[in-house]
Amino acid sequence: MSEVSAEQSGQAAAPLAQSVVMKFGGTSLADAAAIRRAIRIVKQRMPQKPVVVASALADVTDHLLAAGQVAAKGDAASAEASLRYLQRRHEQVALDAAGADAYEVLRPQIAVEFEQLHQLLPVISTFGELTRRLQDQLLGAGECLSSRIVHAAFLQAGIDAVWLDARECIVTDAAHTQATPLWDETNQRVLDAVAPLLAELRVPVLGGFIGSTTDGIPTTLGRGGSDLTASILGAALQSSRIEIWTDVDGILTTDPKLCPEARRVPTMSFEEAADLAYFGAQVLHPASIAPAMRKNIPVAVLNSRHPEGKGTEIVAHPGDECVMKAITAKKGVTVVDVQAVRWLAPELLREIFDVFERHQFTLDLLSASRGSLSILVTSTESLPAIAEELKGLAHVRWESRKALISLVGERVRRQPEIAGQVFRALSDVDLRMICQGASERNICFLVSESQAEDLVRRLHRLFFQSRFDRYSSSVAVPLMCQAGEG
Ligand code: ADP
Ligand code: ASP
Ligand code: MG
Repeated sequence: MSEVSAEQSGQAAAPLAQSVVMKFGGTSLADAAAIRRAIRIVKQRMPQKPVVVASALADVTDHLLAAGQVAAKGDAASAEASLRYLQRRHEQVALDAAGADAYEVLRPQIAVEFEQLHQLLPVISTFGELTRRLQDQLLGAGECLSSRIVHAAFLQAGIDAVWLDARECIVTDAAHTQATPLWDETNQRVLDAVAPLLAELRVPVLGGFIGSTTDGIPTTLGRGGSDLTASILGAALQSSRIEIWTDVDGILTTDPKLCPEARRVPTMSFEEAADLAYFGAQVLHPASIAPAMRKNIPVAVLNSRHPEGKGTEIVAHPGDECVMKAITAKKGVTVVDVQAVRWLAPELLREIFDVFERHQFTLDLLSASRGSLSILVTSTESLPAIAEELKGLAHVRWESRKALISLVGERVRRQPEIAGQVFRALSDVDLRMICQGASERNICFLVSESQAEDLVRRLHRLFFQSRFDRYSSSVAVPLMCQAGEG
């Protein structure tokens, strides 16, 4: 049965090769010590047939992006210097993690990768901009390098690892920097490349985040995309579990960088986790839950520094009683107001959506009133062109530097007093586009970006730092989870 027909029928096929996909994020591969921790974790999973997905070493993607941006501005010397720094760093980690013998093999591979990056810089300078396609070529190097180093370190540690080029497995459309997998082709290639290795009890190691078009042009899956790679592999292989190894104890009640009091959420539903990621929680790529959810494969978010911790288990039916799981803020949001010159007739609505689609805009959220439409977007790049196209039909204005705050939980909407609590607590704040939208699982609203962090902290104190707060007597269950320590 083909992938699509299995999904359409809603039936999960029998597992083809029981396996566990283990994705290690950048901070879990920051240096040789981190790679050694990853080795210990993978060794414990050997009976479950691990498939390993490696992100770029910590901060490498940001450095590559910055190098591309300065090259585009014509500052070739700074870009070259960045690449030289990154090359030295990779060589050092390779030597420390894989040992001197393996380093002799790795060093020329690293050199080739950086040689290609150096050749890219004059091309970027000539364009005078870092085009999306060039960006994908540049950034993808991070995962190619890290996965080779991780592979060599695994071999050195006695793991029978095999490096696979993820660009030959993950086939995507040509939406550079935000590519979407072509599912049938990708599933087939993953099965062909990975399943035989699992049958031989070998450990496939792939770079996350990267893919290529059917013509072989490199693409990437969007920032944080290694989570999505893990989910794609897990779904294709019908794995028994997908593990996201990161630098926090699991999914927490909010970003611990904003609120150190944030606590671990022991269990979540697929939908809750997908909403949380969609509404900006960096811990998971926004699209990473969908493939796992379609195949009903549990996803665990775990801390590579505390591998004995329980982390967060994301499953179809967690069976917990929590009303609210987490609060998140998505920054960098722009609200676009489209005001009809006459009225918002259905034809005009259609025209507005067509224009946005032609400019490849993803619309995050909308709200409509009689004569106008408010749309949230995360890029302003094409807005002038869109305004021009709609001239005569509608006035288009936009305001940037907004943040969308979301309260996520399977039952937040079934407890009307929660919205009341929020609005009472934030009565001094100008809230816009308050939305208890189509989803049952979230309440969200727009604020100015500068207020976002403070408001998240206030809401977190209200809902998660007073275990049975003054509203709990009016609701059947505690508002928050019996979260773990830390
Ligand atoms: P990795 O490199 O492992 O992919 P990321 O930096 O992408 O790690 O994601 C982990 C980070 O996500 C954490 O360090 C934390 O600051 C942030 N984060 C944001 N919201 C949450 C949340 N609700 N729970 C846990 N972490 C969160
Ligand atoms: N290295 C990529 C990034 O920083 C992908 C990832 O880490 O998941 O966005
Ligand atoms: Mg990440």
